[in-house]
Amino acid sequence: MRILVVANQKGGVGKTTTTLNLAASLAAAGRKILLLDIDSQANLTTGLGEKKRYEETTITDVLLDDASLESLIQRKPDFKMDVIPGSPDLISAELEMARVADPTSILKGKLSQLAHNYDYCLIDSPPSLGMLSVSALRAADKIIIPLQCEHFSIEGLEAMQRTIIEINKATGSNLKIDGILRTMFDQEKERAREISEKLEQSLSQQVFNTIIPRCDLLAEAPSEGKPIMYIDPNAKGTLAYFALAGEIIMRFEDKNVA
Ligand code: ATP
Ligand code: MG
Repeated sequence: MRILVVANQKGGVGKTTTTLNLAASLAAAGRKILLLDIDSQANLTTGLGEKKRYEETTITDVLLDDASLESLIQRKPDFKMDVIPGSPDLISAELEMARVADPTSILKGKLSQLAHNYDYCLIDSPPSLGMLSVSALRAADKIIIPLQCEHFSIEGLEAMQRTIIEINKATGSNLKIDGILRTMFDQEKERAREISEKLEQSLSQQVFNTIIPRCDLLAEAPSEGKPIMYIDPNAKGTLAYFALAGEIIMRFEDKNVA
């Protein structure tokens, strides 16, 4: 199982939209998919038509080492994937996690128990840099950073780079940014085109060729509780996430990665 973490400390850049629609596209390409929502907003969860979890056991208990991930899996046969829902009580998780030893390593350990059941686990992370995001990053095989092509996005990217360096220093990991995804792209905007070109020039190895265009249906689909491909298979947002899935398969499924 490859663990793909979609992260950016900056909010509203398309993390959840990307996690959900990339996962659906990989599932449509025959990959076995687990989605994991570790954002207290639980947008990924509701975007799949699933309820946020308020029950006794939630993902927070997993992160505190009191429950298994397996017990929380919800099957979504219509979309050919499984999801572990997010929960509003993730807000308190970060505080409580301080009481366990090496808290940000727990998620990685729990995910390894599911490694044989899936080809990919995609994790949607919150727009902040606390223990939840660090837990996800530490578990990552591949880190994907979505960003909009605007001035503050470059600062957000630099902040993510610094964060990853800090995590590597503190934990001896060897994490890096594996994919930078341009989202909500508006071809008409000169500034967006300029920033996009600059990214291609300076970070060509990491930048995905696929660009996700601005597409109203991508923003509307979550209210129907479905990935966009199940609403309009020909929408430009659908086709863009299919292309991204193809690129991920080409780039990440080399034989050297378990
Ligand atoms: P947060 O940091 O709050 O978790 P996020 O990074 O997960 O946000 P999303 O929720 O995916 O970002 O997207 C932010 C908003 O932009 C949402 O309303 C979403 O529907 C919309 N959106 C995302 N991608 C696109 C797109 N390509 N075209 C149009 N709207 C989009
Ligand atoms: Mg989100």
